[in-house]
Amino acid sequence: MKVVVGNKAGFCFGVKRAIDMAFETARNRKGVYTLGPIIHNPQVIEALEREGVGVANSIGELKDRKAGTVIVRTHGIPMEEMQRLVKEGFELIDLTCPYVKKAQHYAKLLKEEGCQVIILGDMEHPEVKGLMSYAGKGVAVVRGDQELPQIKSKAGIVVQTTQPVEALKKLVSRIVEHTKEMKVYNTICSSTALRLKETEEVARGADAMVVVGGRNSANTTQLARLCESLSVRTYHIETAGELKEEWFEKVEKIGLTAGASTPDWIIKEVENALKEMGGSKNKWK
Ligand code: SF4
Repeated sequence: MKVVVGNKAGFCFGVKRAIDMAFETARNRKGVYTLGPIIHNPQVIEALEREGVGVANSIGELKDRKAGTVIVRTHGIPMEEMQRLVKEGFELIDLTCPYVKKAQHYAKLLKEEGCQVIILGDMEHPEVKGLMSYAGKGVAVVRGDQELPQIKSKAGIVVQTTQPVEALKKLVSRIVEHTKEMKVYNTICSSTALRLKETEEVARGADAMVVVGGRNSANTTQLARLCESLSVRTYHIETAGELKEEWFEKVEKIGLTAGASTPDWIIKEVENALKEMGGSKNKWK
């Protein structure tokens, strides 16, 4: 039984940077909290908690717990929240991904240039909530084929980093019909698209796929859905302990991938467990 592991499985650049720095902060400080879970992976949150990094879900909770240092996660937070944290006297470790920072910068720039800012993304997502605060009053958030807002003379577009490029192309072609002037910042991060592309290629050649990552992780779930849509038997697991030998009876090739919030050590554990079930690792390309 061959086990093919995707090269792009696991942490993206922004998450790796944030997790490494969070562990480093834990080594040097006490009273450290993240504002919201740093990533959607329960095993990593537990590991950080063991090192002394707690999770608080609001500024009020940070105050109740007498936090000293607050870690801002990769998605970023609204500008007002950042200002309030500083005002309340917390020490900030801002681990907003540099790509998200860039999108925040462009949202602000478009507002300052007098554009009506339109964000392509999911309004409920923390990254988009942060972007909205930089885009100021009158900002509109559009997702997929949703109805467009009333477009003024000058439109400015920024994009939630994990949106597919196809969605941006579609939005631009819709908006161009309503305005004479339009400025577009393509703030999409290629990491998600590349992982999806590789997962599709791995899944097409596999009899079964194992997708590793938090059940509450949107990008891991997206990978699992993609594999299912290709009619490949798919198992979305969080840890190696969930694997069952009978899943792989008569399976010749297993594909293995993982979401952007899944650490290497969990992927390795899954790989080793598959090896114990008779799998031999094969590199993807
Ligand atoms: S997916 Fe891209 S934008 Fe998001 S944290 Fe990772 S590197 Fe940064």
